[in-house]
Amino acid sequence: MAAAAAAKVQEVREITRIERIGAHSHIRGLGLDDSLEARQVSQGMVGQLSARRAVGIVLQMVREGRIAGRAVLLAGQPGTGKTAIATALAAALGIDTPFTSMAGSEIYSLEMGKTEALTQAIRKSIGVRIKEESEIIEGEVVEVQIERPATGVGSKVGKLILKTTDMETVYDLGGKMIDSIMKEKVQAGDVITIDKATGKISRLGRSFTRARDYDATGQQTRFVQCPEGELQKRKEVVHTVTLHEIDVINSRTHGFLALFSGDTGEIKAEVREQINGKVAEWREEGKAEIIPGVLFIDEVHMLDIECFSFLNRALENEMSPIVIMATNRGITRIRGTNYKSPHGIPLDLLDRMIIVPTVPYNEKELKEILSIRCEEEDCQMSDDALVVLTRICTETSLRYAIQLITTSSLIARKRKAVEVGVEDVKRAYTLFLDEARSIQYLREYQKEFMF
Ligand code: ATP
Repeated sequence: MAAAAAAKVQEVREITRIERIGAHSHIRGLGLDDSLEARQVSQGMVGQLSARRAVGIVLQMVREGRIAGRAVLLAGQPGTGKTAIATALAAALGIDTPFTSMAGSEIYSLEMGKTEALTQAIRKSIGVRIKEESEIIEGEVVEVQIERPATGVGSKVGKLILKTTDMETVYDLGGKMIDSIMKEKVQAGDVITIDKATGKISRLGRSFTRARDYDATGQQTRFVQCPEGELQKRKEVVHTVTLHEIDVINSRTHGFLALFSGDTGEIKAEVREQINGKVAEWREEGKAEIIPGVLFIDEVHMLDIECFSFLNRALENEMSPIVIMATNRGITRIRGTNYKSPHGIPLDLLDRMIIVPTVPYNEKELKEILSIRCEEEDCQMSDDALVVLTRICTETSLRYAIQLITTSSLIARKRKAVEVGVEDVKRAYTLFLDEARSIQYLREYQKEFMF
């Protein structure tokens, strides 16, 4: 029985771990020193020194509030760390800085118009830090009643009668409060606090009015002067939400459940106007603060002329996030026109951008990145296997080689090995094709695919 329970707990842990490891989860910042110089390996980042240094200056501009109206363009070949650098900037800006990542092609959807998709992406990248006062009530417990449901299934319900200086209040107990009560073993005569915002109950001790209590060991339990006078305290709680979350919650057609499904559809302009007004009010009253986040648009050459002019205007807005775009194209056609321009971006937008190039990594840097990824994925790999993987990486792509870490470690696990060896990497390499081999395969067998 206990073993089964332990297995279950283990299973739950595994799931949370899987969620935590994303493609860039090893990145914790830009890895710069105090004078904004990039360290060769730091905070999960490797090499790409001049791009990291440049983005460090952008970080400084953001912190000084001097980025408004500008955008950053990361230009470089696939797998040169453009997304990694944008993620690093968001991480360096702080834990509650919103970061939204999207590909240019994502805006072409049947469910919503292009500018709506961009507006949602922009509003997902603007945080509102809201300060709220939470009430903490302190008093002596008169009675606790917890009922188990008759059927034995479903959650428990209950009531708590609390005496403060001048009155007794009956609280209906929800699941969280019941959990706190059970954990703290709250009973009549205890002095407790209830945090009204979170429902958390803390037991301070016993009241003087019932001073005859002893606990099971015969020790006199801790007594607390039953509080008199000021019983209700206030505590400031701060939480950060995005403008988009506020929009969705207040949009009558969607409701907050849409936040989980991601299926928010289009949001009416009136809703957004109201929210902007409300947030402006909160800011004036000192209840809220705007945190500009980072909106990262990969494959930006996929946007068309309408999107570019929309973005151009959006960047002027006082509440604009930091927009970082990435592309691996050189001179190409601007979608929706017959004109060509550098990176497929109109010149007027290009003119207000800070352009940061990223360059291919050398073998040593690739090995270092792969080794960091192995650590991140809890994968122990032999030195020889890492050398083979690095060689594969130079001949294929960084992304493909990173995928091989997971697959070869599963192959090693299957043969009950603790360490991934050369043969596991080779096996994964033969099982899963990289882009070049996949194209070659299609060419060789195209006749079979064609009818
Ligand atoms: P694409 O043009 O195809 O979108 P990209 O330039 O955005 O590619 P990334 O996705 O950032 O490339 O890089 C591929 C993988 O390598 C990611 O897992 C990323 O976190 C990692 N990576 C890239 N550069 C670095 C770096 N300098 N330090 C650490 N990890 C890196």
